[in-house]
Amino acid sequence: MRRIGFIGLGAMGGPMAANLARAGYEVHGFDLSRPLCDRAAEKGIIISGTAAEALAGSEALITMLPAGEQVISVWGELSTDFAKDILLIDCSTIDIESARVVHQIAKASEALSVDAPVSGGVAGAEAGALTFMCGAEELAFRAAKPILEAMGKRIIHCGGPGLGQAAKICNNVMLGVTMIATAEAFVLAEKIGLSHQALFDVASVSSGQSWSLTSYCPAPGLVSSSPANNDYKPGFLAALMLKDLKLAQDTASRLGVAIPLGALATQIYALYNAQGGGGMDFSGVINMIRGERQS
Ligand code: NAD
Repeated sequence: MRRIGFIGLGAMGGPMAANLARAGYEVHGFDLSRPLCDRAAEKGIIISGTAAEALAGSEALITMLPAGEQVISVWGELSTDFAKDILLIDCSTIDIESARVVHQIAKASEALSVDAPVSGGVAGAEAGALTFMCGAEELAFRAAKPILEAMGKRIIHCGGPGLGQAAKICNNVMLGVTMIATAEAFVLAEKIGLSHQALFDVASVSSGQSWSLTSYCPAPGLVSSSPANNDYKPGFLAALMLKDLKLAQDTASRLGVAIPLGALATQIYALYNAQGGGGMDFSGVINMIRGERQS
């Protein structure tokens, strides 16, 4: 496969498309933002005037868009031009229902489709080190895997259509909750007079251990990759954590499943966003827990 259409060249899509071009694919990209198209062109993307132009002649189409509404709209508008057996991959984080709607759009055109949301953030996108969580029939997954390998390190088949999105929201419930718990423990330690370093040394090798602690510690100076060391500049935006927790909450409500800690984490991130933290890294929630003003 040589030619790939790529729609959505934003914070994630831009570097992902650049990695595909670097791997030798002929990438035809489109975004509503002209400056983002110009930036992508510098990274080897051939810019199209419309999404339909990016699709024409491509053997695969990738979308990396804000939410389900945009993905349904783009796939719906392009569907009359989908060639039989074209491979369609949506890497956006969207609700499971919308993901299943777009799989149906693909099926109606006899196209192969994959929902493949990602974990790893902008740094992972730039480094080609994303984790892809794929929901697809076996044939579509096998076709997508080599393409995704040009943008990521771990490509996991989670099950049928929509189950990539399911894995994403379940993972981020764990992430949101453990980040808040870790932040609370560090603030409590500060008040008691226990040093950050001592808490880290103990918890990182004890039962309090988590990714939020050992890869992304919300207290500065303990983990080199942590946005805490850079005044909580993202990283992974608190606004996106809130988005993902809301998606999880909506799904849980629809299925009648109680996820009380997920619900509380949603409220805590809603408060952090309302106080002006939405543009900060999600680990910056520690500052709100400490009682600091956000803006
Ligand atoms: P972004 O806002 O930077 O990029 C989205 C791009 O889509 C924008 O450039 C926008 O102009 C473009 N767009 C919107 N509608 C369009 C249309 N109809 N046609 C063409 N282009 C269109 O967002 P992002 O941070 O790149 O995130 C993209 C997706 O990835 C989201 O679903 C997000 O939840 C998910 N995600 C983001 C991160 C992250 O750290 N930023 C991490 C994991 C997952």
